[in-house]
Amino acid sequence: MLRRPNGVPVPHDYRSVDTVSQPVHQAQPRIFLVGRPGAGKGTQGARLAQRLDVQYVSTGDLLRKAIEARTPLGTAIEKVINSGNLLPAELIISLVESCIEGDSYVLDGFPRTVAQAVAITSQASNSPPIAIEIAIPTNVALDRLTHRGRSDDDITIARRRLVVYETETVPMLNYLQSCGLLHRIDGDAPADIVEQTIWQRVSVVLSSSHPEPAVTMPEQHHSHADSASLFGAVAAG
Ligand code: AMP
Repeated sequence: MLRRPNGVPVPHDYRSVDTVSQPVHQAQPRIFLVGRPGAGKGTQGARLAQRLDVQYVSTGDLLRKAIEARTPLGTAIEKVINSGNLLPAELIISLVESCIEGDSYVLDGFPRTVAQAVAITSQASNSPPIAIEIAIPTNVALDRLTHRGRSDDDITIARRRLVVYETETVPMLNYLQSCGLLHRIDGDAPADIVEQTIWQRVSVVLSSSHPEPAVTMPEQHHSHADSASLFGAVAAG
């Protein structure tokens, strides 16, 4: 069942582009979708969650929902988003923590920093998470963002978001790669093709991974221990 937090239905019929006849099997698929702004994480995240029948969580959607509520926190969040910067790790981690309903999910837009990655990969689980990077070049990202019409897609803000991606998110990709969790997909293609590529890769990884007794990812960055502990409650619960 697909649970989009903003209630927007996902009309796509995934069966029309299915390339793997049998459903994949892993006890608790945990997938992170990462990529430059404009990479198509929202579209692909919703489709993938539907295929896997797991919860879909988009941090951007959650934050925009908080803005719509017109609370003081929502106003503060809006300012940060419209500056092109990232929300503080503690806030975003507890937001994700409070939204995750079980052991299986597709996360869109989280993690985005090393601290966030350490926090989420520290969750005890029977199987390692799978991080999919939907890779598009910067010029394609800029072109897509400036034709999308969202309030944080203004050219100046879009440029800032791309700089933040290089400084905050690229190191996180390196971290996930060093953990052997990162899979890079070419995102500079029509959405249906990207969807097939992601599905093929996820299917292979899920069908080749054998659930083991609870695995906790090694904590490599001690300075992020506080963030990691925020997810301890989720892991325990
Ligand atoms: P998105 O819809 O994923 O492009 O996110 C829109 C904006 O929400 C980002 O530019 C950030 O300001 C904020 N945001 C979303 N996810 C995160 C995150 N994991 N960490 C910090 N800020 C985030």
